[in-house]
Amino acid sequence: MSKMDVSRRPSKPAAAAGSSLDAKSKHSPSPLKYYADEDPSLKVPAFLYLVNASAICAFFTLLYYLLSRWREKIRSASPLHVLSAPELAAILAFAASSVYLLGFFGVEFFQSLLLRPPSDIWADDGEEERVVSVVAEEGALKAPCGQALDEETTKLEFDPVKPAAPKAKPVETEKWDEPIGLTEEDEKVIASVVAGTTPSYSLESKLGDCRRAAAIRREALQRKTGKSLAGLPLEGLDYESILGQCCEMPVGYVQIPVGIAGPLVLDGREYSVPMATTEGCLVASANRGCKAIALCGGANSVVLKDGMTRAPVVRFGSAKRAAELKFYLESPTNFEVLSSVFNSSSRFGRLQSIKCAIAGKNLYLRFSCSTGDAMGMNMISKGVQNVMDFLQKDFPDMDVMGISGNFCSDKKPAAVNWIEGRGKSVVCEAVIKGDVVRKVLKTSVEALVELNMLKNLTGSAMAGALGGFNAHASNIVTAIYIATGQDPAQNVESSHCITMMEAVNDGKDLHVSVTMPSIEVGTVGGGTQLASQSACLNLLGVKGANREAPGSNSRLLATVVAGLVLAGELSLMSALAAGQLVKSHMKYNRANKDVSKVSS
Ligand code: ADP
Repeated sequence: MSKMDVSRRPSKPAAAAGSSLDAKSKHSPSPLKYYADEDPSLKVPAFLYLVNASAICAFFTLLYYLLSRWREKIRSASPLHVLSAPELAAILAFAASSVYLLGFFGVEFFQSLLLRPPSDIWADDGEEERVVSVVAEEGALKAPCGQALDEETTKLEFDPVKPAAPKAKPVETEKWDEPIGLTEEDEKVIASVVAGTTPSYSLESKLGDCRRAAAIRREALQRKTGKSLAGLPLEGLDYESILGQCCEMPVGYVQIPVGIAGPLVLDGREYSVPMATTEGCLVASANRGCKAIALCGGANSVVLKDGMTRAPVVRFGSAKRAAELKFYLESPTNFEVLSSVFNSSSRFGRLQSIKCAIAGKNLYLRFSCSTGDAMGMNMISKGVQNVMDFLQKDFPDMDVMGISGNFCSDKKPAAVNWIEGRGKSVVCEAVIKGDVVRKVLKTSVEALVELNMLKNLTGSAMAGALGGFNAHASNIVTAIYIATGQDPAQNVESSHCITMMEAVNDGKDLHVSVTMPSIEVGTVGGGTQLASQSACLNLLGVKGANREAPGSNSRLLATVVAGLVLAGELSLMSALAAGQLVKSHMKYNRANKDVSKVSS
């Protein structure tokens, strides 16, 4: 029986498993019973119980009827093969109910007898149970990581399951240096992690020392896999600072070099912008763009909008009821009440709007709120939960299907973010003098304008781009995000950008702008508090919360992101335009004028 088959089987609810799994149930062929609770599709629907009950009743009634007819025929010595219509119907119905019952209950029973799974499948079962116990115990460890878990799940406790000995051929063991200062006690813990008696995830809570837990986990991992982690540093990270907030089961950290581009002259101030990247030329290119901007008096930016979004999906019995909630939410009087309910969840979260989209009986409520200096996903989720609880009183027939229904839309390309904005919506512009275009960027205004139209506008339109009307905004966004402790997965929508280039001042100079509707950044919370990331925020002068004007640090950071994207666009577009000009001259022998500008 394949693992897939097992997972499709109807299973008992998790609660039935209880907190004390006995040895037998640990190895019972129902390893996915906990997932059945999470996945309603795995439960037996109520109507199936009815059908099964009817089939069982029919089976025994017909059996009784046929046996009594048989007895009577034997008594009265009538031939057995001569059947009346009711007898024939009873035989057919009996056969049908038998086939049904055999199909439903019997096949799996025979399969379990005939196709006993090999022992490595049981090893998988243990693996899955361990996954559940990880969730259970991690949830109990620290609040921030457990926030997404419901109480039921966090209460479950399981004994760690000993993993089956690996059946594969023995791995070749590489050499590595053991962490310095391992004590005898540490050796015992390592051996117990390798043997599977101590779960790796429980080391922090058991030892009460995060650095030691990481060292032991790392050593156990190397011994188990036979692979060396030399090169992945252990020392130099404050493991306490990531516990329950940034990363589970750490064994070290990846080093990403940080380069500095700048000074970026933006809104009359100078910024040295940290970029964490392994892409050669990226920092140099952004730096060249900064130089061009600085030589022309700097760039200017405006924050057009500042609101994080979260959109739960709710379901009603009819589209009419869903529409009633939509109208309720759109009434200004109700909005006032709802915003006071929302705002009570945080000192900084302030509800701005609720935008509704309906799909049949389902309603998507896109809440938007300001979040101070936090990027705001946790903050808005709390506020939205308050409002949903409040609405439930007036709309008891409302089923909240998910606190996030993807109309938010987080970490996925979506037109709603491109059009409505998410996080900070910023526009940033600069006028680059013709001279600077020639001397620093090694191209011409004319070539840049033409290439921008062909590549960033027409080319992206041809590609069916969604927010991708730019050369490489994502390069800059991601490098700054990693350096400053933002969520790098949000580069998806944060990199939405349209780059515009126009010749101005009688065609002599270049007006360049980037418009970025969904820059999601914060200067408090998440990875921003870690030492390295916090140092990078400090360099920009936006470390932590701004006490005088909450939100101004994160807005300033968003403008820096847009400013450096502007520099990056200028530089890459110039490199492309210069290369293109040289090539096209060689191929098509175009006017010398353009080429002389390039070579100068
Ligand atoms: P996020 O919502 O981005 O995930 P968190 O909720 O984890 O961030 O972190 C924000 C925390 O910082 C909240 O507890 C909030 O009360 C606190 N905080 C302190 N000062 C500020 C500020 N100026 N702006 C936003 N949050 C702040």
